[in-house]
Amino acid sequence: MARKFFVGGNWKCNGTVEEVKKIVTVLNEAEVPPEEVVDVVVSPPFVFLSLVKSLLRSDFQVAAQNCWVRKGGAFTGEVSAEMLVNLGIPWVILGHSERRLLLGETNEASFPYVSLNFGNITIGRILDWNNVVLAYEPVWAIGTGKVATPTQAREVHTALRKLLHDNVSPEVAASTRIIYGGSVNGANCKELAAQPDVDGFLVGGASLKFLQQMDQSSEE
Ligand code: PGA
Repeated sequence: MARKFFVGGNWKCNGTVEEVKKIVTVLNEAEVPPEEVVDVVVSPPFVFLSLVKSLLRSDFQVAAQNCWVRKGGAFTGEVSAEMLVNLGIPWVILGHSERRLLLGETNEASFPYVSLNFGNITIGRILDWNNVVLAYEPVWAIGTGKVATPTQAREVHTALRKLLHDNVSPEVAASTRIIYGGSVNGANCKELAAQPDVDGFLVGGASLKFLQQMDQSSEE
């Protein structure tokens, strides 16, 4: 089954209004394959979601970096999934390892409706799998410049797909996109993308690199 390629840009806790506007301008001018071929999703911090959504080209989508996965209410500082939907934000990154390592977030906090653990990854049976993209991001590769080899990525992605096959359904295993993250950049992405079970990327540092380059060139 053909799975549409997925490329996510995780901006993490970075950016000012001016920088966000610059990034969006560059993205809006970028030449990319049509949206029938690839989902391009950018994930700015919460405070910039509306700004990015209002400025970004219509074939690109916007994601939040986290959300409160239960019903809203007396949870100071949290942003609920309903609020994101209300804002027209169709995606959210859940359970990123930085939230686990730095903020002590647990599988239960990120995915309360789940039934199966696989190492650090939680697979939910009752989810609407049409709306889920799984990201494999080895912690040793995030922000370190050390990228998984194509073989390593393929082996893990294949194992994850088998897990879906055996525990959810063969259809879900065939259709769910499994993307790789961890020091992906323009130089290493082609070889990784050529692996049969790698359906896209979650890109952190490299998704903001051109911002640094623009800053450098404006200083020169
Ligand atoms: P990185 O981050 O590309 O900077 O390694 C990826 C991520 O944390 O999603």
